[in-house]
Amino acid sequence: MIATGFRLVRVGVTLGSLLLLTNSIALRAAAQEAPAARFLQVGPGLYFNYDFAGSNSAVLITEEGVLVVDTRTHPADAELLLAEIRERTDAPIRWVINSQFHGDHHMGNSVFAREGATIIAHRDTQAIMIERFEFEVATRPFEQRGLNREEVELVLPDILFDHRLTLNLGGYAVELIYLGAGQNEGDTLVYFPHARALHTGGVFHNRSWANPSYTPSVDGWISVLRAMKTIDVDSYLPPHGPIATKQDLDNFIEFLGLLHSGVRDAINQGASLEEMLLANPFTQYSGWRGYERRERNLTALYELLTTGEAQYFVPANQARPIAQ
Ligand SMILES: [Zn+2]
Repeated sequence: MIATGFRLVRVGVTLGSLLLLTNSIALRAAAQEAPAARFLQVGPGLYFNYDFAGSNSAVLITEEGVLVVDTRTHPADAELLLAEIRERTDAPIRWVINSQFHGDHHMGNSVFAREGATIIAHRDTQAIMIERFEFEVATRPFEQRGLNREEVELVLPDILFDHRLTLNLGGYAVELIYLGAGQNEGDTLVYFPHARALHTGGVFHNRSWANPSYTPSVDGWISVLRAMKTIDVDSYLPPHGPIATKQDLDNFIEFLGLLHSGVRDAINQGASLEEMLLANPFTQYSGWRGYERRERNLTALYELLTTGEAQYFVPANQARPIAQ
């Protein structure tokens, strides 16, 4: 009996190992499908880490030290970003800026804190980072990428700002600017005057169906986008999507305005959620990143305009199930 039991256990272990092996092969295949992030130079000392499948970062490398805007989704992603930096400089990592509270922009903080960086964020960003950290960790698809969610730590800012803050590093000025809530309370713009470039926080996503579940007001978001246009730059470095031009920014403002008016007009005509979705196919934006999230995004706008509540902050048991 003992021998039979032992053999059964052995068979179980072997099958389990096979399943694990099959899983890890599938994970590696899935990871290989996503294009790797690219570390692109966009100005003197200024780089844009463009990750089509994840979130973007900006990096300023100077002889005095390095400044990083956004630390990616997981410490493993942050290590890859750090490796790109270390290929180019041994200078210390002096500053990290978290442009927004979404986990995919700060959950790599621990790697840069270990390197000695001082972390800065808007006061509202820190408040929501704390409030939503567990949710952000729980809802990211780490397992699909073969990553361990237990490795993610909440590493909070060392310095908070409210309106403007100017840093000087290696002879370059870097300005942190808050113009109000765009997609998010606390959306921080980071201006690099020497490179005529602006990291746009959550305010502007290029050619992307940016999720409106977080915004307190679409009118407010569009006002912030218009105010951002007065900062005269050649390149916008968005949190998602490729490097953008002024024309791309105008296209996004138009997109957001059309989404807003499409949903608002349907509500004013007494349309149900389902009728509003049918009336707003927005096929002209089917080539933008995240078009598959159209129904979720329009539903969030419908709820915002009818209840006044940003859907991301509504407790799950009170939220309307979002159409897939
Ligand atoms: Zn993001």
